[in-house]
Amino acid sequence: MPLVNSKELFEKAYKEGYAIGAFNCNNMEIVQAITEAAKECNSPVILQVSAGARKYAKPVYLKKMVEAAVEDTGLPIVLHLDHGADFEICKDCIDGGFTSVMIDCSSKPFEENIAITRKVVEYAHAHKPYVTVEAELGTLAGIEDEVKVEHGAESYTNPDQVEEFVKRTGVDSLAIAIGTSHGAYKFRPEQCTRDPKTGVLLPPPLRFDILEEVSKRLPGFPIVLHGSSSVNQEYVKIINEHGGALKDAVGVPEDQLRQAARMAVCKINIDSDLRLAMTAGIREHFEAHPDHFDPRQYIGDGRAYVKQLVKHKITDVLGSNDKI
Ligand SMILES: [Zn+2]
Repeated sequence: MPLVNSKELFEKAYKEGYAIGAFNCNNMEIVQAITEAAKECNSPVILQVSAGARKYAKPVYLKKMVEAAVEDTGLPIVLHLDHGADFEICKDCIDGGFTSVMIDCSSKPFEENIAITRKVVEYAHAHKPYVTVEAELGTLAGIEDEVKVEHGAESYTNPDQVEEFVKRTGVDSLAIAIGTSHGAYKFRPEQCTRDPKTGVLLPPPLRFDILEEVSKRLPGFPIVLHGSSSVNQEYVKIINEHGGALKDAVGVPEDQLRQAARMAVCKINIDSDLRLAMTAGIREHFEAHPDHFDPRQYIGDGRAYVKQLVKHKITDVLGSNDKI
């Protein structure tokens, strides 16, 4: 099976009340961990590439690695551009064989966002085969590679704008802002309460009322959540117990993501959690084996942790297991 776009995957996910994981990848071990986990769970999967990943690994390596994963697993895999900043980068990815792109003009005025998104959609939909396009309305706080928004400068999606936006752009899916945030420090301590027993921060709940309102106005239309790592504390603990210093790292609770996946959310983006799992595996390995210097040994442990995490996400959070 060749790479697929997200259209049919989202239609099925919407109908059956689950979401597809969109995992960011930067190197071979991460690609393998994600796709081997998906294979064992019999789940479709989206591998996404940010501008930072393209710079780090070069687009051609990423594309070939994802193609290798398709050949190795036989899974329906989408190769998606995460946060395309302008028409040119989207065009470059479409021409280069990506099956899905995101154009992110969410920081621009509404009319400008519509105009640029429309231009990308026209190009992507004219491509054979059809490339799907995701756009964004509203802005998330936090840092993701080259996308940086200060806490306090974020804005929730306005449900009054979504119908007009989707109609005028022809976009295939829409990322909305309902309180998720990029990075491993999603919320400032003052936005949270602290669990008196563990000292771990408990974040404010997602704005399900906005999601509900958006899905009422766009029946059957796939919604996307960015910044949806949960910053699983078991990995933070391993990192901190093996020489790391991640204080007050906090994410979106998994039960809330599960709830969103049952609603109109068809794609959930997870990046920081993979980074934490990889780091936990490597830190643990180095502390146990200070004499090791073969990268296969420690990166191999990191890969095993990422795979274990992705299986957990697919089965317990996204609900996309056994959906092929
Ligand atoms: Zn994002």
